Amino acid sequence: MGGLGWMGGMGRIGRMGRMSRALVIAVVASAAISAQAPKEPDWKAVEDESIRQFQAVLRIDTRSPPGNEHLVAEYLKQVFDKEGIPAKILALDPNRSNVVARLKGNGRKRPLLIMGHSDVVTVDEAKWKFPPFSATRDGGWIYARGTVDDKDNLTAGLMTMLLLKRSNIPLDRDVIFLSEAGEEGNSNFGIQYMVKEHFPEIEAEYCLAEGGGAIRVGGVAKYTTVETLEKIPRGIELVAKGISGHGSIPLKSNAIVHLATAVGKVGQWRPEIRFNETTGTYFRGLASISPPETAKYYRDVLSTDPKVRAAADQWLFENEPLHSSMLRTSVSPNIIQGGYRSNVIPSEAKATLDVRALPDEDPAAFLEQVKRIVDDPAIDVHFAAQNTRPASAVEVRLDSEPYKVLEAAAKRIYNTITLPTMSTGATDMAQLRAKGVQCFGIGAAIDMEDGPKGYGMHSDQERLLESELHRFVRYNYEVVLELARAR
Ligand SMILES: [Zn+2]
Repeated sequence: MGGLGWMGGMGRIGRMGRMSRALVIAVVASAAISAQAPKEPDWKAVEDESIRQFQAVLRIDTRSPPGNEHLVAEYLKQVFDKEGIPAKILALDPNRSNVVARLKGNGRKRPLLIMGHSDVVTVDEAKWKFPPFSATRDGGWIYARGTVDDKDNLTAGLMTMLLLKRSNIPLDRDVIFLSEAGEEGNSNFGIQYMVKEHFPEIEAEYCLAEGGGAIRVGGVAKYTTVETLEKIPRGIELVAKGISGHGSIPLKSNAIVHLATAVGKVGQWRPEIRFNETTGTYFRGLASISPPETAKYYRDVLSTDPKVRAAADQWLFENEPLHSSMLRTSVSPNIIQGGYRSNVIPSEAKATLDVRALPDEDPAAFLEQVKRIVDDPAIDVHFAAQNTRPASAVEVRLDSEPYKVLEAAAKRIYNTITLPTMSTGATDMAQLRAKGVQCFGIGAAIDMEDGPKGYGMHSDQERLLESELHRFVRYNYEVVLELARAR
């Protein structure tokens, strides 16, 4: 085991009482050299094994619901047992278990957590050319539900653990692997349970999870993303109250009319643009590698001239809505309810707004802004009860060690720059960031063209290039090695 090997070495030096000082220095120096240059894995053999492991986890049907992640948990536990890596199965529901495995380091640094979720979304089997849990290899691709979400991370994490263990590399920190259940639906069984009931098992300084990866265009990697931030989902409800009556006699207080007007105002409103370290770096980086026609908008939106900025904002809203959402706390009216008979004026109508708040948004102040936009005393504006993800308690910095290591690995392996991203959605990293763990979202490279063709995540033909599985295993291993090996 890595950590014990290193400690054992130090112990032997400690016992060499009569040995000359020079010899001790020479021994320490050679230990330092071997710590600096760990033996390269046999990558050809690693590739064969990666494919085997990838296929093995893809062939386990963990569509959620119902999940059945215990099948993956049992499989992984058995792999870890065989390698002599201590692993535990932890579960709130025995059919939805998580696995934690740990390689011990010497404790000089706090642990590093690498994780992947074992559940996948459901499938419409009739639409699949190859059965969704067959992991069929065809033309250099592997087809299966979960190939890019998230059994790529699961497999790369597993391979990293196996390679570290076999190499006996001394570690400055523990490396913890987590296979978590229930990411796609109910996080109660997975990250929520692990954070609430078993946090010491996964407590770490840094964490690598899903949420990024290299983006290929025309078969060439153009840039690599690392998710460093995510928005916080919050619902806001607008409830209009009026006087009920007969539909034949229209009333000024009609709740539906008040609500519709309010929804119209909120729908037209785009909250102010605000950049943070991640989004500013992202747009500047994107401008540096994009064709001039689009680079112009990424640059202009950062302009201090309000007119230039507004024009770019409008273009992004119409052409690249994801980028428009990254600029601000977004609001999308998604549910509207009211009325039950055409001849009855209802006394109440309700709309639900999906709000995705910037990480630094002040919720109370934002609610006041919505009230001002609505500007109607007949409408009550309040936060909806549901709030599924907690706010982050840490700032994930771009000058941090993991980010720099990820940047260097992307340069070496994908020959790209790295762009930090703020996800407009939410992931299981939210619960960890809320506990102070700095999390970075990574993943295997995907083709920009693949999503629109119907091969992306959650699609009816999810797939990954075998060669990209291999590059990702290497990226994952090299990043973890660099962050964890003893110095
Ligand atoms: Zn996922």
